[in-house]
Amino acid sequence: MRVIEHLNQAKDTIISFEVLPPLKGRTINSIYDHLDPLMEFKPSWINVTYHRSESMFKKKQDGTFEKVEVRKRPGTVGICAAIMNHYKIDAVPHFICGGFTKRETEDALIDLNFLGVDNVLVLRGDAPKNETAFEPEQEGHRYAIDLLKQVSQLNNGLYLDEDILNGGKTNFCIGVAGYPEKHFEAPNLEIDLRRLKDKVDAGATYIMTQMFFDNQKFYDFVKACRNIGIDVPVIPGLKPITNKKQLSVLPRMFHVDIPTELSNAIMRCKNDEECEKVGTEWLIQQSKELKQFGAPVLHYYTLGKPKIVWNVVKELV
Ligand code: FAD
Repeated sequence: MRVIEHLNQAKDTIISFEVLPPLKGRTINSIYDHLDPLMEFKPSWINVTYHRSESMFKKKQDGTFEKVEVRKRPGTVGICAAIMNHYKIDAVPHFICGGFTKRETEDALIDLNFLGVDNVLVLRGDAPKNETAFEPEQEGHRYAIDLLKQVSQLNNGLYLDEDILNGGKTNFCIGVAGYPEKHFEAPNLEIDLRRLKDKVDAGATYIMTQMFFDNQKFYDFVKACRNIGIDVPVIPGLKPITNKKQLSVLPRMFHVDIPTELSNAIMRCKNDEECEKVGTEWLIQQSKELKQFGAPVLHYYTLGKPKIVWNVVKELV
């Protein structure tokens, strides 16, 4: 089922989870071990992130180094199919511009369609680790909206190869990313919101947000979306803080603020166990308030911490 149908049919706030593909070399069982306990909450769908390859220098036998492209976490499409088959629930692959030509994108979308996956979260992706700015592939997309338009074209049966007449239509429900605290490259929130509206006008049926730790930022964001005419559901992305390192890592990597009350409480903790307790309590409170606000979905980034997310969601049902 498409995400938008889950949203339209929901009578109350629903739950969804997000997982990372396991590191190369691990089996699909690591995904099942991660998700099994969370299934008791009957999530409406599971998102699976996408990780592009990175350049690395590998030492050769003669002592010199060679540059190699390594994908540490492959398998997004296969994991989606496995989740759908194993749990009989929907899976939403993240789909990025970075590293793909338009033709590779089309082929990947055809694979998804054949596997019965009819959801995609369309994203630009970031620059590879060793590069400072995002650069599209030569025949690739520069912005998420360009990728979104390609998916929409395929939904209309239009393939890159113009010889294909009466092409089979896909039926992808397309989600896009939104940033309550602004995307880090946007000059200001207003311009970022206008670009978000462009994505919605081009066919996105819902917005999934970057994580945030202060609900007021989400409320303000939803209000600002409505004020400029974005009327699709806005799904909050939620993540627990579980250690002191995250106080600097999360702002650096995701360009989000940690509220003083939360950072002070984490800094007072003596070990990770105490941090997890504080982070869990904070997320429970955030979730309860968002539910009361009328958030359509609570979407949890489980990222290696399924037990903590379990402890949070248990308090809501
Ligand atoms: P875009 O919508 O293309 O926006 C990128 C920037 O370009 C913004 O600053 C925007 O304001 C600007 N912009 C947009 N259109 C134009 C235009 N026409 N002219 C000039 N500027 C423009 N990354 C991954 O690699 N894998 C994942 O699985 C993944 N999952 C994510 C899930 C969520 C919910 C979120 C919020 C992010 C995720 N990301 C993921 C990170 C994402 O790829 C980065 O944040 C990326 O930098 C931006 O992606 P976007 O889709 O928002 O890009």
